[in-house]
Amino acid sequence: MQLTDRAIAAYLGLAIGDALGSTVEFMTPREIAAQYGTHDKLIGGGWLNLKPGHVTDDTTMSLALGNAILAQGKVEALASAHAFDAWMRAKPVDIGNTVRRNLLQFRKTGNPKAPYSDHDAGNGAAMRLLPVALATLGQTQDEVRTACRAQAHVTHNCLLSDAACECLVFMVQDALHGASKNDLLHKHAHPLVERHPEFRFRAVRQSNNPSGYVADTLQAVFQSFFDTDDFRDCLIDVVNRGGDADTTGAISGMLAGALYGLEEIPEAWLKKLNAETGRLCTTQARALIRIANPQAQRIAVQA
Ligand code: MN
Ligand code: MN
Repeated sequence: MQLTDRAIAAYLGLAIGDALGSTVEFMTPREIAAQYGTHDKLIGGGWLNLKPGHVTDDTTMSLALGNAILAQGKVEALASAHAFDAWMRAKPVDIGNTVRRNLLQFRKTGNPKAPYSDHDAGNGAAMRLLPVALATLGQTQDEVRTACRAQAHVTHNCLLSDAACECLVFMVQDALHGASKNDLLHKHAHPLVERHPEFRFRAVRQSNNPSGYVADTLQAVFQSFFDTDDFRDCLIDVVNRGGDADTTGAISGMLAGALYGLEEIPEAWLKKLNAETGRLCTTQARALIRIANPQAQRIAVQA
């Protein structure tokens, strides 16, 4: 499978997970079951009353970041901050509290780095990191980490958020290069838990109603991602847990898209995803891996 296919699938997966999850965001599994049985269609609605196939901040912030990276030719904190600020001015359908607070702070100070806070351990930086994973393919681990923090720290300057973001970026990059799910588990997910037990997802209860706390988010994402065998089952499993379902859906969709590739994304979901969103995700995925370093391009050509 081509690297480009996996990159596009990761971006479309992010958007589809966001669109699918938004319908049941903030609902409990019991409420979802009562209303939908199993929620498995892009029907819109939810507390944001979206049209079918429409997405939320998880996807639109990713696209804003991706545009800034493409304009600069690299990941840059100040350009990311300006892009997020412009995104906020355009009145997005939803916005996280930490994102809003630290972007307002940026407007005042012009400093694209939020003050460090252990309380800013929300999932807002993790949900939008895909463009960084694509644009830094083939770079050294240090370069990838630096890029990862540059975008994250605009709104979330926090140890646990950083740990989550870096784990996810490396997982996506390895999956794009054809790593197996088992590789991702042993090389990235388990080491993250060893360093930060907050992320424990094995031998604990099924994570239902995951909150916006990044450790809760990743616990739900990892349980669904590692315990299912295809794109569809992974997304259905995670969004039916309710809670911050658009974000768990988006992050799971990104990982599952990168791992399983474009062919595994159900046709019905691809068709229902807002056409303009799908076009933007596809175009950006292609462009971002093109600005990644020449080594990654050679791999892309060979794959
Ligand atoms: Mn959202
Ligand atoms: Mn959310």
